[in-house]
Amino acid sequence: MLLGAHMSISGGVHTAFERGKLVGCTTMQVFSKNNNQWKGKPLTDPDIINYKNEAKKTNIKPVVVHSSYLINLCAKDKSTLEKSHESFLDELNRCRLLGIPYFVFHPGSHVGQGEQTGLEIIAESLNMLHERTKGYRVKSVVEVTAGQGSNLGYRFEQIRKLIDMVENKKRMGVCIDTCHLFAAGYDISNDKGYEKTFEEFDKIIGLKRLMVIHLNDSKGILGSRLDRHEHIGKGNIGDIGFSLLMNDKRLNGIPKILETPKGNDMKEDVINLNRLRRYVQN
Ligand code: ZN
Ligand code: MN
Ligand code: MN
Repeated sequence: MLLGAHMSISGGVHTAFERGKLVGCTTMQVFSKNNNQWKGKPLTDPDIINYKNEAKKTNIKPVVVHSSYLINLCAKDKSTLEKSHESFLDELNRCRLLGIPYFVFHPGSHVGQGEQTGLEIIAESLNMLHERTKGYRVKSVVEVTAGQGSNLGYRFEQIRKLIDMVENKKRMGVCIDTCHLFAAGYDISNDKGYEKTFEEFDKIIGLKRLMVIHLNDSKGILGSRLDRHEHIGKGNIGDIGFSLLMNDKRLNGIPKILETPKGNDMKEDVINLNRLRRYVQN
């Protein structure tokens, strides 16, 4: 089972493996650099060698990179849009150097430009970025959002529209986040709502595009559009929703990754991962 959590890279990206092993990850997510900076220090050969050694030693794979929060592929301000492009490119290069297959990013905030215009600018951005990274194997994995503020990507239809406008569809994947789904109004907390949500996902986007799953319970109520992560089973999704997901055969083989709050000792990860494993019925 591919189950893990978002791990800190404090001390270098290779250090995440040791932390992941400690809490029992078989897969994990990291930032490729300090996530509050547009551009990270270039990766050196020793950085890459250390990373590959630790990857082999711990056998944690796949590793997923989550993009910096600064990036907005439909920023209205020209210089922010340009910086977003360079930053996205930098991260795709880091993924390529480290052999990371999935780069998860949020679609973007239309900041008053409107939904359709926003989606068009994101698609344009992706087309240019894919053109500049021809032959790269890393997938651009767009995350379903909670729809806070003017964030796009909180309806499956928006994700579909975006993928339709992306020329190189082989480069595109989708990430769902349970907290975001629920906050966006997809009620995965019960049997009926869960089935309906995944049927809709399959019909509109296609389950074959689903490449990463973020597991977070939700502090906000259904449809609140609030992006506040809660510990597994402690929020408004609750045990039933996560138990349905953990036993869903369609989702076998897809990395499932926690992004729940935690301290330096990561004991919360251990608790949340154990809780998730306990839902699994054989
Ligand atoms: Zn995210
Ligand atoms: Mn997420
Ligand atoms: Mn979130």
